Amino acid sequence: MKTPAQHLRDALQASPTRDRRRFLAGLGALPLLGAAASAPLPASAAVKTQARIVIAGGGAAGLTAASRLSTLLEGASITIVDARKEHYYQPGFTLVAAGIKPQNYVVSGTGDYVPKGVEWVADKVAEIDPEGRKVVTAGGKSLPYDFLIVATGLELNYGGIQGMDTARIGQNGLGSIYHSPQAASATWQAMSGFADKGGVALFGRPAGEMKCAGAPLKYTFITDDHLRRRNNRSKAELIYMAQSKSLFGVPIVAEKVRMLFQDRGVKVNHEHVLQSIDLDKRVATYKTPTGTAEQGYDFINVVPPMRAPEVVRNSPLPWTEGPFAADGWVEVDRETLRHKRYPNVFAVGDIAGVPKGKTAASVKWQVPVAVAHLMGDISGQAATEVYNGYTSCPLITRLGQAMLIEFDYKDNLIMSFPGVIAPMEELWISWVMKTMALKPTYISMLRGRA
Ligand SMILES: Cc1cc2nc3c(=O)[nH]c(=O)nc-3n(C[C@H](O)[C@H](O)[C@H](O)COP(=O)(O)OP(=O)(O)OC[C@H]3O[C@@H](n4cnc5c(N)ncnc54)[C@H](O)[C@@H]3O)c2cc1C
Repeated sequence: MKTPAQHLRDALQASPTRDRRRFLAGLGALPLLGAAASAPLPASAAVKTQARIVIAGGGAAGLTAASRLSTLLEGASITIVDARKEHYYQPGFTLVAAGIKPQNYVVSGTGDYVPKGVEWVADKVAEIDPEGRKVVTAGGKSLPYDFLIVATGLELNYGGIQGMDTARIGQNGLGSIYHSPQAASATWQAMSGFADKGGVALFGRPAGEMKCAGAPLKYTFITDDHLRRRNNRSKAELIYMAQSKSLFGVPIVAEKVRMLFQDRGVKVNHEHVLQSIDLDKRVATYKTPTGTAEQGYDFINVVPPMRAPEVVRNSPLPWTEGPFAADGWVEVDRETLRHKRYPNVFAVGDIAGVPKGKTAASVKWQVPVAVAHLMGDISGQAATEVYNGYTSCPLITRLGQAMLIEFDYKDNLIMSFPGVIAPMEELWISWVMKTMALKPTYISMLRGRA
């Protein structure tokens, strides 16, 4: 049996050359980023129906579902429920925190993407009642449905880290990109101050499921690069606290990151999970298999534990057993995204209780599948579409280079651009995709066009 390192060597040998002309040729394909993943909308006439469809959550997945359904159906009542007026392009948070994009790069308006004919209820869903087939908003509005699409995303549980105070992000060496566009920008200020002086910087990730598991790794590489650009790398110690024995869920990628960290001098402590933090003294305490371990820092990027939002956790929708039960992820079939106990309920995006898949790129695969099955119920023609776990992460390894990592449930590496982009290579073209092509593709996805 091959070790991950042998798999990696084989993959690298089989990969295309680093010829710049081939990368440039590939630029023509950029607008189609992830095209292999998307199911284009059929050209046939819209299906007539009076079905009532409620979409809980109007982020990446909810808006994408609304756009596709509004094109495919005629006469349906489609309602999207989300109190948030601002839309966040979250994959851009890392770029804001890297100092290469302004804060407003990631902020637009939810209303910009709500399709014509879809009602937007600007309120929170406060109760989900799958037996009574209705949701109730915080303002007391009852919304009966024939089909429900749960797309609430996830909750950042900062309260799970004792001593953490999100109001202090940006102060005294505290960074936390995930919190918000403002926090990503404040994290940049804190990290940049650190890169001017050096010291000890801590990185890591929470123990459970999380969105974009590559983001904490990316930020370690970005910090390393900023230190080098300021000739301060020798004055700094970077420590990555891995929550498990591995650096990434896909073994071959974990091995590549291990090699890169070794190459860049990033120290790794395995099985360390952030438990508490003293923001005044700048000391982080980690849970380890042998007890707790304290580590002082000059800069830290806190990535909080993540779980389903309260409204979902308190509903009958989560898994009741298995690895997704404790944090309230919705019990759906991993191939169809259909609820296992309530067949008229689907869950898409981060809230879906499936292995892998908590990325915007996964939304692009998941939504067309869930929508196809919902359409099948309406038309009476069973759908056959399957979500294979597609997850993608453009893993920045230094400013100007990234590795486009794409994989499925079985940890197979997927290549959207065979012959142009090799997944395990640090490439300029993958950097261009992350920094320039991804956002337009994401916006097209929200509008149901990608
Ligand atoms: C720092 C960072 C870096 C990332 N990098 C990448 C990347 O490089 N590539 C990539 O593909 N993905 C990346 N992602 C992940 C990606 O952004 C998410 O996977 C994606 O946004 C998931 O879409 P979603 O609709 O499930 O959740 P979201 O887009 O978060 O939307 C959820 C929506 O539900 C709403 N909501 C919540 N609770 C309720 C309620 N009770 N009632 C009504 N509405 C509710 C929220 O207001 C929100 O609008 C990154 C994320 C972060 C934070």
